[in-house]
Amino acid sequence: MLRMRVVVLRIGHRYVRDYRVTMHVALVARAFGASRMLLASDDKSIVDGIMKVNERWGGGFEVECIGSEQERWLHAISEWKKSGIVVHLTMYGLHVDDVIGELRRRCHTEGRDVMVVVGAEKVPRVVYEVSDYNIAIGNQPHSEVAALAILLDRIFEGRELRAEFKGRMRIVPDARGKRVVTSEGDGDESTGDTLYA
Ligand code: SAM
Repeated sequence: MLRMRVVVLRIGHRYVRDYRVTMHVALVARAFGASRMLLASDDKSIVDGIMKVNERWGGGFEVECIGSEQERWLHAISEWKKSGIVVHLTMYGLHVDDVIGELRRRCHTEGRDVMVVVGAEKVPRVVYEVSDYNIAIGNQPHSEVAALAILLDRIFEGRELRAEFKGRMRIVPDARGKRVVTSEGDGDESTGDTLYA
């Protein structure tokens, strides 16, 4: 598995209106192998939501609010570029199949981490210019949630879906029912109860 870190930068988030989609961006980032999300907003409700998910299901995924002003998130991009690679997800970019090999190779040989930028409404032109790659998950409009999931899956080649989060609650895959193992505080599942929900 590639050992690099992936950080997601979510720009264009609008209070209340985008809560659900931004929360889904964060959930997908967490579940598909990213370690952190920078949110270009002061909306702490996303931070609180992810902390509750971590508390139950484990993992150390973090969300940091960096403010919505363009200079704040442009600064985050330029800081990242000092050692990492910036990928902007946009339907106008190059097809993912045509660039993913090069991206993975560079991460591996140059030891670089990746920042993935996703928008909400119209993304300012400057993002296209400062990004190292503008990548399209197909050239049709769809969703930042879908685009992020597919890019992360291509980066990690599906292995991210086997990651263990070691939380208070753990699902035991079941062909029919909902089987959840809970543990008391210390995360030792052997002492836990099995619930059938
Ligand atoms: N119309 C907006 C624009 O021109 O920037 C995009 C709005 S779209 C609902 C929100 C985000 O979804 C985009 O900023 C992009 O990150 C992502 N997205 C949507 N379709 C995509 C695609 N085909 N490939 C990659 N990313 C996509």
